[in-house]
Amino acid sequence: MKSRLLLTAAFTVLGLLAANAQTGEAEMHRRAAKTAAGTLFPGLLAAICVSPDPATVVGDGGRKRPDPNRSTWYAQPAQMFDNLYWIGTRIHSAWALKTSGGIIIIDTLYNYAVEPEMVEGLKTLGLNPADVKYVIVSHAHGDHDEGARLFQQRYGAHVVMGAPDWDSIEKQTALPGGQPKRDIVISADRDITLGDTTVHVLTSPGHTPGTLSLIFPVKDHGRTLTAVYSGGTGFNFPHDVAHYDTYIATQRKMAAAAVKAGATILFSNHSVYDDAFDRSRLVKLRAAGEPHPYEIGAAAVGRYFKVGEECALAARADLKS
Ligand SMILES: [Zn+2]
Repeated sequence: MKSRLLLTAAFTVLGLLAANAQTGEAEMHRRAAKTAAGTLFPGLLAAICVSPDPATVVGDGGRKRPDPNRSTWYAQPAQMFDNLYWIGTRIHSAWALKTSGGIIIIDTLYNYAVEPEMVEGLKTLGLNPADVKYVIVSHAHGDHDEGARLFQQRYGAHVVMGAPDWDSIEKQTALPGGQPKRDIVISADRDITLGDTTVHVLTSPGHTPGTLSLIFPVKDHGRTLTAVYSGGTGFNFPHDVAHYDTYIATQRKMAAAAVKAGATILFSNHSVYDDAFDRSRLVKLRAAGEPHPYEIGAAAVGRYFKVGEECALAARADLKS
């Protein structure tokens, strides 16, 4: 009897130790994420390391929701680089990359914002929406894909999307803005070239199975810089080891690709992660000779993907406890 009690006690202690070790592992990764985020990426850290519950992850609202009041989201469009224009809302980003052969759009916002921010925004900035040749959709969620059909149908633009996300968008019959027709399907990394500009399109599954990230050149007063665009961030996928592993592998892939390309600029598609809305106004304060507010340097770009990797490792460790 006594020995059985001792045995039970021993197992209880072992169990507690194991649970502590697991909590310790998650804690270690969260600390590493915090260090990587520093003061540069607080929004990213908070969203995926503190409240990674899908219900609280910013942005990926369902398709059925009332259109919010314009005063809560409308932002002035802005020229951010010689060849790159921001046509997003206060919350979500859409970009126009101007080339010698026309315009490449990157992400397309919720349907309610497509006309006022994108179509009108292009015109305000002196660009012609009819010159849009490609629309690259980072992933098939409403905050990024609902304008794709408009550009495809009205202006004849090609829509570029990851293969699994084409499958997903085709299943959604009540899509605000309508479904784009299946067009350019990305199953492996490839380049999209328009005129003098090449965009490297990288499969980066995790946030959705077909998420795409990008690497492309921007020009700052004639100086060419390399930017990396992270296509998906929140953990709104099934919370299991396999999905976290996919997400983690993508963060490592993007970090390595950013280093290889010499990227010193990081774009996300949510302002909470890359301060696009703030930076769209800060460029107006920039004095001659000052660095561009988006040029954060190669080390900082690497830290962004480190935060993603470490927060996912922490959430993965939490699964075991
Ligand atoms: Zn999303």
